[in-house]
This record gives sequence, structure tokens and C-alpha cells, in this order.
Amino acid sequence: MRIAAFEVRDDEREAFAAEAERVGVDVDLHAEPLTEGNAHLADGCEGVSTLGQSHLDAALLEALAQRDVKVVATRTIGYNHIDLDAAKRLGIVALNADYAPNGVAEYTVMFILLVLRNYKPALWRGQVYDFSLQGLQGRELRNLTVGVMGTGRIGATVIECLTGFGCRILAYDPHPKAKVAEHAEYVDLDTLYANSDVITLHMPLLDSTYHIINRESIARMKDGVVLVNCARGELMDLDALIDNIEAEKIGGLGLDTVETEGDLIHRDRRTDILTNRGIAYLRQFPNVVMTQHMAFYTDAAVHSMVSCSVDGIKSVLQTGGFRTRLV
Ligand code: NAD
Repeated sequence: MRIAAFEVRDDEREAFAAEAERVGVDVDLHAEPLTEGNAHLADGCEGVSTLGQSHLDAALLEALAQRDVKVVATRTIGYNHIDLDAAKRLGIVALNADYAPNGVAEYTVMFILLVLRNYKPALWRGQVYDFSLQGLQGRELRNLTVGVMGTGRIGATVIECLTGFGCRILAYDPHPKAKVAEHAEYVDLDTLYANSDVITLHMPLLDSTYHIINRESIARMKDGVVLVNCARGELMDLDALIDNIEAEKIGGLGLDTVETEGDLIHRDRRTDILTNRGIAYLRQFPNVVMTQHMAFYTDAAVHSMVSCSVDGIKSVLQTGGFRTRLV
């Protein structure tokens, strides 16, 4: 059995080699994203593994089906880059990754604290030997209300982590969970917006969640609200964020993902002329902390992402089933 893996980073190679040997498959490793132009690299492979920059739309899935690829496995939890309807129509099984939610949850808590304690301007000042305090006074979580939107695996773990800080926790999810309700109070969105000092997003990017944070929803939030996004950039309208940071309606942002990040993500673009004006403008504010979509990036998660895709492809081809099957 042969698998073609795309978007393979150097730090994944060892895990791929170990997992291929463990489950007894051959894996071809390619650094570039999978496109229609290089789909021939999947010739002779029954499964392909990608990250999020390979846009598995209907045309690309068609090209894979013609090459007898039977399973596509993304090494990400998010799967908004896969056309699931087209996969189903073409008889291709799609899998996503399954790794512990702790890495992203801990990163989210770190972001909340960094923004509340004005870490970014403090870091800037320290680098030029300015050790003044003026303008850096922070807030303590125990006096604040945190709203968690999306209480699946990551959102629920964020809530567990936050219980140690003594803050009030509100939650919103169309599918509330009894275990989460032990630590957080489920409320409707209007109540969450009106009462939260910090709001953090942990839902998937769907047609129904695209730009869920927009001018209208921000207007319903408290003045000075801190927003955190470690889920998907397109959940938040970038222009609305900029306008509301300028208007000081938003008091701080912690963004691991941001709309229009697609051609920047995980790439060294230092010497390129970039056109992502929104990102360039937003990142210069002292109360906006942005990172390069790396909340997932821990030793444990990388190993699980690779293992899940190789093991998942093999299991589907042998038995038809795997725990992270999407279609
Ligand atoms: P999950 O499927 O376990 O949970 C998602 C939750 O969102 C579910 O409980 C669902 O009911 C809820 N939901 C759906 N629509 C909603 C809405 N309109 N409002 C509120 N909640 C809604 O997923 P997860 O493992 O917790 O991951 C959440 C998201 O985090 C993923 O979809 C992915 O996009 C993102 N993610 C980002 C990184 C990163 O590195 N930044 C890493 C992993 C995952």
C-alpha cells in the first residue's frame, strides 16, 4: 500500500518514517501543496495526506479519483479546505486529524493573558531599555467574564483550564454538553456578547459561522472587549476588526488565525512584496497580538497528526472505518 503525503514539513519527516514502518505502508513525502498540476504525484497511491493549503475542491478530487485515490486525509482538525459533497459523490473517503485539544487550549489561555497584561508593548519597550509602567496596567481574570463560543473538544478544554483562574465563564454552542455545564453557564449569543470581557472562538468554519464576528455582533459586545481567535480566520470580518480597534470598541485582539492569511501561512515571505494590507495594518497596533497559525504546533500534536493520517488511510482501505471519518 502506498500513500502520497503533501505539505510535509521537515519536522514531520521522522514521524512519517516511524509511522510508515509501524503500520507497514510506503509513504512518498512531498513538501509542496497538492494541486491539479502535481496530482500525478499521487499515481499509484490509494491515499493522500495533506495539510490545510491543499484546496481539495471538486476538480482536484476528480483528478485524484481518476488516479484511483480512495482516501484523502487532512492532518488538520479543520476541514474547510475539502469539498465533502464532491468527495462523497466521487466515492472518496475524507478523514481529518484527531489530536489532543490541550495544545490549542493552552495557547488560547496564553493569548488571553498576553492581551490582558499588555505583554506586546511591554516587550517592545524592554527591547529599547524603556522600563516604564505607564499605560501597561493589566486586568485580573478573576474579576472578568470570559465567553467561550464553541464548546467542542478545544472549547471545553479552554473552559477546564480557565476554571483555575476564578473567572465567570459563559458558553454558547448549538449543541450544549452536560460536562461543560458543570464549569460554565450556557447562555444565548446576545447574553454572551453583552456580558463577556473576553470572547474566544472555538467553532468550525462553516457557511453559518463565516464572519460570525462582524460589525453588528461587535456592536452588541461590551466596550473594550478582548477577542481571541485560535480557530479559523474567516470567522471574523477583518475590516470590522480594524475599524473597531481604531474606534477602541475592541480593547485587544489575540489572533492565531486571520482572514486572508492563506498565502502567508507557515512561509518565510520576508523579501516579498505583500498585498495583505489588512493584516499588515492590524498587526501594528500595540493591543493586537498575532501569530502564524501555530496554536496546534506542539511535539505531541505533530506526532498525532501524522500518525492519524497514515493509520487512518490504512484502516479505511483495510476495514472501511476510522474514528475521524468525515464522509
Ligand atoms: P469540535 O468539532 O470538537 O467542536 C466544535 C464545536 O463548535 C462543536 O461543539 C459545535 O457544536 C460548535 N459549533 C458549531 N457551530 C457553532 C456556532 N455557530 N456557534 C458556536 N459553536 C458552534 O472541534 P475542535 O476540535 O474543538 O476544534 C474547533 C476548531 O478549532 C476547528 O474547527 C479548527 O478550525 C480550529 N483549530 C485551530 C487550530 C490552530 O492551530 N489554530 C488547531 C486545531 C483546530
